[in-house]
Amino acid sequence: MIQVDKVTKTHRRGETEIPVLRGVSCEIPDGAFAYIIGPSGSGKSTLLYLLGALDRPTTGTIRIDGALTGEWSAERQDRFRRHDVGFIFQSFNLLENLTAVDNVLVPEIPRGIPPERRNEAERLLRELGLGDRLDHRPSQLSGGEQQRVAIARALLKRPRLVLADEPTGELDSENGSRIFEDLRRLQADQGATVVVVTHDQRYIRDRDLVLTIRDGVIARD
Ligand code: ADP
Ligand code: MG
Repeated sequence: MIQVDKVTKTHRRGETEIPVLRGVSCEIPDGAFAYIIGPSGSGKSTLLYLLGALDRPTTGTIRIDGALTGEWSAERQDRFRRHDVGFIFQSFNLLENLTAVDNVLVPEIPRGIPPERRNEAERLLRELGLGDRLDHRPSQLSGGEQQRVAIARALLKRPRLVLADEPTGELDSENGSRIFEDLRRLQADQGATVVVVTHDQRYIRDRDLVLTIRDGVIARD
């Protein structure tokens, strides 16, 4: 369970302070499929980064399973980001000189890659329909395929929390709906909590949690 309580975030650009979040409170239960929507520049990405402990609130608190993330040591924060969270961003962050499989395995390189991890990476890519693209490099893949490689990379660590920032932003609608299907499957099969920032409201279902940011707070609908 994620509990966001009266969170504010003020960005600074030179001398100028830009208050973006002005008191956001919300709860995201475990296993939820949540959307963050709102106009461009309303602070959707900012909120997502805070949920992933990639950034800290200016004021207010975020609790994960009751623990105040603001009180975590740098080490604890790092562990959370590396083991518990799968990040899927719009810019796919794939390395051009690596194959699809190696791009999935990139985060594991520092620890060394045992064969079973490589098998797992290949299995994930197959599940995502990229079985015949394992040794392709990013430039040989379509936008949708590149995004699926980025998803496989996020899934390899079996995250309990998946944070996706406009994951379908650069994709056509067919590839876009495919990405949402994959995220749904992840929620259903692994019980992950999925939080997606999107412009695309077509895929919202009745049981989803929809958080709309307007004027720096979560709007009540
Ligand atoms: P959204 O994702 O809803 O489009 P963002 O959270 O990216 O909005 O940004 C909200 C506002 O904060 C924008 O005006 C943006 O320019 C500003 N902003 C975002 N990140 C930074 C940053 N690191 N430094 C300064 N300003 C930022
Ligand atoms: Mg954004």
